[in-house]
Amino acid sequence: KVRVRFAPSPTGPLHIGGVRTALYNYLFARRHGGEMILRIEDTDSQRFVPGAEDYINESLAWLGIKIDEGVREGGAYGPYKQSERRDIYRKYVKQLLDNGKAYIAFDTPAELDAARAATPNFQYDASTRLSMRNSLSMPAEEVKALIDGGTPYVVRFLIEPGRDVVVNDLVRGNVTINSSILDDKVLYKSADDLPTYHLANIVDDHLMEITHVIRGEEWLPSAPLHVLLYEAFGWADTRPDFVHLPLLLKPDGKGKLSKRDGDRLGFPVFPLEWHDPASGAISAGYRESGYLPEAVINFLALLGWNPGDDTEIMSMEELIKKFSFEHCSKAGAKFAYEKGRWFNHEYLQTTPDERVAALFRPVLEAHGVNPDDYTEDYITRAVSLVKGRINFVADLWDHARFFFTAPTEYAEKDIRKRWKEETPAILTELIGVLRALPSFKGTEAEPIVLKWVEDNGYHLGNVMNAWRLTLVGECKGPHIFDITELIGLEETVRRMERGIA
Ligand code: GLU
Repeated sequence: KVRVRFAPSPTGPLHIGGVRTALYNYLFARRHGGEMILRIEDTDSQRFVPGAEDYINESLAWLGIKIDEGVREGGAYGPYKQSERRDIYRKYVKQLLDNGKAYIAFDTPAELDAARAATPNFQYDASTRLSMRNSLSMPAEEVKALIDGGTPYVVRFLIEPGRDVVVNDLVRGNVTINSSILDDKVLYKSADDLPTYHLANIVDDHLMEITHVIRGEEWLPSAPLHVLLYEAFGWADTRPDFVHLPLLLKPDGKGKLSKRDGDRLGFPVFPLEWHDPASGAISAGYRESGYLPEAVINFLALLGWNPGDDTEIMSMEELIKKFSFEHCSKAGAKFAYEKGRWFNHEYLQTTPDERVAALFRPVLEAHGVNPDDYTEDYITRAVSLVKGRINFVADLWDHARFFFTAPTEYAEKDIRKRWKEETPAILTELIGVLRALPSFKGTEAEPIVLKWVEDNGYHLGNVMNAWRLTLVGECKGPHIFDITELIGLEETVRRMERGIA
């Protein structure tokens, strides 16, 4: 049974690359009827950021990435937060020490700095370890005395040099590296009584019966070490498969997408707005910027994967049906943020008008309009008339404001072009025509008004545009008879009279 995990460290807001990793894990799990686990990797207490864990949960919930097992959801393999698993890790650290796969080291930061300064490209490994202060280079009694005396120590992984380590990656194929380039990684620090990422990650993936490790490319260099750890524990046979996802690149393809690119390009790189607790700085989020979660999901899914044809619009259900690593790319994916806007536009068109109208209500309020002054049907119809022109719900204000506030100013250039000497008289006459209409429904009003224009030999463009100017304030917007039908006869006449005066 497929079991995958998304394993963020709560060291800050989840960025869009992390969301994509979570999404691919989720799609793969669902595709194979498997389980999606959320594990919080918080062993690095120095980098802990308050609020980050809640932010992760809230982001995934907003995006519709459902977690089967986790801190909130519970599950049979808990606890799902690493800081609550100390006892478990202690046991496995001991196992490695007892089996001679790891050793204890006392080198202080100053001693390590000195070693680095003395030897160019210093690496703590087979070639140097006997010159350092550790249980391999010191008598056993001395080691015991130091530990009993409370001297802080770390546990290092003993890496045998000169071995080819093969990482089998489902996207990249076999990646082989020589163990000589690896250092004896720190697996545990007595000072925190906590393991480092590498040990905790391997122990948890094993105990949680993870079948596929799907994560960002930045973890590929750690994978050989992980392979060796599985071996050292005797878990090589049940080792999960690896998938390292391509990096997200800057839109111009030059380098890795960074947090700062978001501000530079005016495009969110975080799912939700993030208020940094330390600096107070606010980073934009997709949600607050007016994106629909479905659009974000669709956009992200295609950054590094394709369905094998050029289909672009796919719901979560469709993505699940089509997802496979076969069509994942090895090359970095350019963060084409313009495409994100396009997706949002497309999704707004297929989202029911009622739902868009509900999202428009706070926008109206922000502009001083009380949405409760209008029926839901009124707001929905206004939305339906202009939706085709917008990328974001917030854009609705510019395109639909006149349904909620009568114009108080009129575009100068439209006045110059369309407002003639005879216009007030013609519009006054038009008010009479409108009042006499048997129905104010657009489709019924339109032919009558057009016939009146023609019978009187008026200039159609000038009359219609001048009329529009009184209703909208400029010569833009949806079909005029749709506008008048929605705002109604009395409001139409009121605006015309104000325009004439
Ligand atoms: N805690 C790691 C991270 O923050 C997890 C890496 C992995 O998936 O192995 O990305």
